Amino acid sequence: MAATRKRVLVTGGAGFLGSHLCERLIGAGHDVLCVDNYFTGNKDNVAALMANPHFELMRHDVCFPLYVEVDEIYNLACPASPIHYQHDPVQTTKTSVSGAINMLGLAKRLRAKIFQSSTSEVYGDPSVHPQTEAYRGNVNPIGPRACYDEGKRCAETLFFDYHRQHKLRIRVARIFNTFGPRMHPNDGRVVSNFIVQALKGESITIYGDGHQTRAFCYVDDLIEGFVRLMAADDDVTGPINLGNPVETTVAELAHKIIELTGSRSKIERRPLPVDDPVQRCPDISKAKSVLGWEPKVPLEAGLKQTISYFDKLLGENR
Ligand code: NAD
Ligand code: UDP
Repeated sequence: MAATRKRVLVTGGAGFLGSHLCERLIGAGHDVLCVDNYFTGNKDNVAALMANPHFELMRHDVCFPLYVEVDEIYNLACPASPIHYQHDPVQTTKTSVSGAINMLGLAKRLRAKIFQSSTSEVYGDPSVHPQTEAYRGNVNPIGPRACYDEGKRCAETLFFDYHRQHKLRIRVARIFNTFGPRMHPNDGRVVSNFIVQALKGESITIYGDGHQTRAFCYVDDLIEGFVRLMAADDDVTGPINLGNPVETTVAELAHKIIELTGSRSKIERRPLPVDDPVQRCPDISKAKSVLGWEPKVPLEAGLKQTISYFDKLLGENR
């Protein structure tokens, strides 16, 4: 065994981000244990890894305790798209909160380093732009997004309490909108929706006036940020924003995707969902200075990769 080989647990490893992380860790020569209950993830996402003797897949719900032996834990288990996390909101809060308690308990027993995939949603509908880690957020605690936003906020609280109380080595990343191959085609997120609609020649559904902004990070860039944060000195606990600071309106995104796919799709306006943030963009000064990290893949290049993934996927299902 290589001296640097670690045993790494990835919860939610069969999901979009998790599967890319598993690939990256296997590529770096680690042993990876991927744990998932397949609520939104699936085995196809990690099919290419299944033959690798250093990769192991386990069906398990993080709401229940887990007894395994690992050196590092990446806790990603949680549905991430509004459609999925609002499908069973009680389960979403349980996954974030009980899941965090169980994984922190595991880390405490093993004295393992643990990473939390938190989210820009902890800032809610922000009144400060761009958002720095010091901003405390503007979250509606009783709205339809609260199961996710408040669940993730509570998970952050737990991570910092375990750090202060039990001296656990923690890493908390606040992830902003990320896209790329293996996004779920029906998860309702804007990039996957627009690409699938464009490829099928269906109407592109812009919610509201399309002036709301997001900042879209390509998955490979984000995973690089995860790995750097995990490898950072132990005093680097986060929270640390990881995202692409190039702000794009939803309408601009729609036009860019129509252009790149050569689609004849028309725009269709739909009502803006409740509590939909108007503007979101990360301030990544901290990630730049502490991790030497910033995204490298331009939106257009990332979209091309993602379009070709969905084109193939839709072709297989035709
Ligand atoms: P995803 O839905 O593709 O992946 C989540 C994975 O967790 C899925 O494989 C799902 O089956 C699994 N899961 C859900 N509940 C579980 C449970 N109780 N036990 C075990 N497994 C469970 O979403 P993603 O985009 O890959 O997100 C991964 C993580 O990153 C999530 O924690 C999400 O909150 C966070 N995040 C993602 C984004 C983004 O833009 N993709 C932005 C902010 C935060
Ligand atoms: N959105 C849209 N059309 C869609 C899906 C989403 O206009 O078909 C909008 C949505 O209202 C939001 C933005 O795109 O303003 C990003 O939505 P997503 O669900 O991808 O992420 P989040 O709101 O969680 O950042």
